Amino acid sequence: MPLIAKVATSVSKTAAALSRAAGRGDGSVIGGWIGLKIDPDLLAHLAAGRAVALVSGTNGKTTTTRLTAAAVGVLGRVATNSFGANMPTGHTSALAKEGHTPFAVLEVDEHYLAQVIDQTRPKVVALLNLSRDQLDRAKEVAMMAQLWKTTLAGHPDIRVVANADDPMVVWAAASSPQTTWFSAGQRWHDDSFVCPESGHPIERSGGDWWCTGCPLRRPRPQWVVEDEGVIDPRGDWHLVKLQLPGRVNIGNAATALAVAAEFGVRPIEALPRLSRVASIAGRYAQVDRDGRNIRLLLAKNPASWLEAFDMADQAPTLLSINARDPDGLDTSWLYDVDFSPLRDRPVLITGDRAFDLAVRLQVNHVPFRHVNSFDEALRSVPPGRLEVIANYTAFQDIRAELDRVN
Ligand SMILES: [Zn+2]
Repeated sequence: MPLIAKVATSVSKTAAALSRAAGRGDGSVIGGWIGLKIDPDLLAHLAAGRAVALVSGTNGKTTTTRLTAAAVGVLGRVATNSFGANMPTGHTSALAKEGHTPFAVLEVDEHYLAQVIDQTRPKVVALLNLSRDQLDRAKEVAMMAQLWKTTLAGHPDIRVVANADDPMVVWAAASSPQTTWFSAGQRWHDDSFVCPESGHPIERSGGDWWCTGCPLRRPRPQWVVEDEGVIDPRGDWHLVKLQLPGRVNIGNAATALAVAAEFGVRPIEALPRLSRVASIAGRYAQVDRDGRNIRLLLAKNPASWLEAFDMADQAPTLLSINARDPDGLDTSWLYDVDFSPLRDRPVLITGDRAFDLAVRLQVNHVPFRHVNSFDEALRSVPPGRLEVIANYTAFQDIRAELDRVN
C-alpha cells in the first residue's frame, strides 16, 4: 500500500476506536469518513489483493452478507461490514479494521453499487431484489434497475449471482456474460407488474413469470429453495438448518451458498457455519424477560413487512413505527402493506407514529391496542412468545431497552 493509504488506515482505525470508546456506536462511519478524507482512494487500496464479494438489493442484504461471510470463512479470514454500515465509509472502515484478509464480503447500499464496484473490483456481485423503499429518498425501482444494468454492462468480468424470481433483477443482470441464477421466491410483486424492457404486463403462474410483449422471462435457476433445503447446480438437495426464522432466510442461505460456491466452497462445508448464525445486529434476537420470550424482527419497507408476517409465530405481536430521518419521513407506505395476516392474534402498537398505524389497521380491520412503552407492552401480554416487528429507529429503541441485544 502507498504510504498515504497506510497513514489513512491507521487514523481511520483510531477514530473508529475512539468513537466506540465514547459510546457512539461502532465507529465505522466516522472511521471510514476520516480515512477517505486523507486518502480518497483508500477503499481501492484496502480492497486490492482481496477476493471480494458484494451483496446488494432492497431487502435481506445484511442477513445475506452475514451468511455469505460465514460460508466463505471456510477458506480463510473474511473482512465484512457486519453492522450494516453499507456505504463506502462503512466498507473502508471494515477493511481497515480487519487488517489484511484474503477475502471480503461487503453489504452495499443499492445506490452505491456502481461506485463500490469501481473501487473494490469484486470477483462476485450478488443481486437480491428491488422493491420500493423509503419514499422520500429512494430512487424509483426502475431507475435503480437501470443503474445496475449499466454498471454491470461495463464489468463483464464480474460473476453475477442473481435472483431469478425478481423481474427487475433479471433484467438488470441478464446481459452479464457470467450469471448464476438462484430462486429464493418473491412474496412482493407490486414493483414488477410491468416489464422494465418493453412496458408490457408481466404474467405469473406458480413460481414462473414472463413478459407478454418481449422475450424477458424467468431464467432457469441453478440454486433452488425446496422444502427446508436448497438444491445445488448438480441437483443435490441439502437440508438447511438455521437459527434464523422463515423461508425468507432459507432463500438468503441459498444465496450465500451460491456466492460461496463462486469461491470454491461446497455447500456441505458451508452449511454447519450457516447454522451457527443466531442473530444479526439484533435482528431475529430472542430475549427472555419476565417470563416472556421476545423476538425482534426488523421491517423497513412494504416487502419486508410481508416477510416479517411470514416469519412471526401466531403469538401476541407488538408493532412499532417511527418516522425519523433513517426511517423516511413519509408513512404513506403503511397503505402498501396488507396487515390482514395479523387479524387472528393480539396486536399492540407503539412508536412515534403509532397513530398513523392505528388508522391503517382500522381500515384493514385488524383489532389492536395502543401502549405507551415497551414495558407496558410486556405487561399486557401473557407469559410466552411476544413477537416484535419494528421499523429502523423503532427497532433500535427497543433493542436499547433490551440492553443493546445482538
Ligand atoms: Zn417485456
